[in-house]
Amino acid sequence: MRDSNRPATMLLHYGEDKSEYQGAVVPPIYQNSLFTFKDWDSIDKVFDDPVNNCIYTRGKNPTVAIAEEKLAKLAGGEKAKLFTSGMAAISSAIMHCVKHNGHVITLKNIYGPANNFLGTYLKEKMNLEVTYISGTDIKEFESNIKENTCLIYLESPSSVVFSLQDLEVVAKLAKSHNIKTIIDNTWATPIYQKPLSFGIDLEVHSCSKYIGGHSDIVAGVVIGSEKDLRGIFESEHALYGGKIAPFEAWLIMRSLRTLPIRLKQHEENGMKVAKYLEQHPKVKKSLLSRA
Ligand SMILES: *Cc1c(COP(=O)(O)O)cnc(C)c1O
Repeated sequence: MRDSNRPATMLLHYGEDKSEYQGAVVPPIYQNSLFTFKDWDSIDKVFDDPVNNCIYTRGKNPTVAIAEEKLAKLAGGEKAKLFTSGMAAISSAIMHCVKHNGHVITLKNIYGPANNFLGTYLKEKMNLEVTYISGTDIKEFESNIKENTCLIYLESPSSVVFSLQDLEVVAKLAKSHNIKTIIDNTWATPIYQKPLSFGIDLEVHSCSKYIGGHSDIVAGVVIGSEKDLRGIFESEHALYGGKIAPFEAWLIMRSLRTLPIRLKQHEENGMKVAKYLEQHPKVKKSLLSRA
């Protein structure tokens, strides 16, 4: 298996073993539900470790697994699990962390449906209490921690207003209180921001945005430690069943090949627009400092 620390090269080759599929330069789409085994001993063996073996496509599928390995490697996580949408990934990651009667700290400007899930749906179903803060001052996090706080849910940059949180400081605070942390890293992508390296527990993405990049995929991913991802695989992924289609995982692999070069172009274009607006006499700067 070839490896390289350069994202562009890694995303091409990592997780692929071309000798397994006749040297095909692009891995095939394993469009099957079940897998077969040559004897009972082999079946016994795979059932000892269903997380890492292909048994049924709601669990592990080879095409999906290759895309997951690339995403985990890019984010610097041990494991990744793809889901049928960003919201499936987000709601599964949240359910992995929250408890009945628990308390969650989050931001005012998180993605709308994630906000509905926490503040309306789980409030009703699990009596979850949600505190909304601006997220720009660590003291806000600190002063809102309670006995039953089980999760700090972040989005940095956040939707619409792109406010930021200090991920390293928040992760440290959360760990010292035994509180789980999740970040929606969709906007920055794992190319520009590596939250797991700051100690954040779980990173979620909508792959429908920059990661997909062609407006032809709706998908999501959760990335984190082997332990957390095993829990999510066995519970939220298996039981809610929000598995991605192998074809969409294959499209994500296609997209990942060009993610670094696409983002470079986005950056260049964005900078040009920003510079133009910055010097434009009719554009005021005050919006930039709004939390
Ligand atoms: C689009 C989006 C989501 C939801 O993803 P879907 O794939 O549409 O379910 C979550 N977070 C952010 C920041 C998004 O932009």
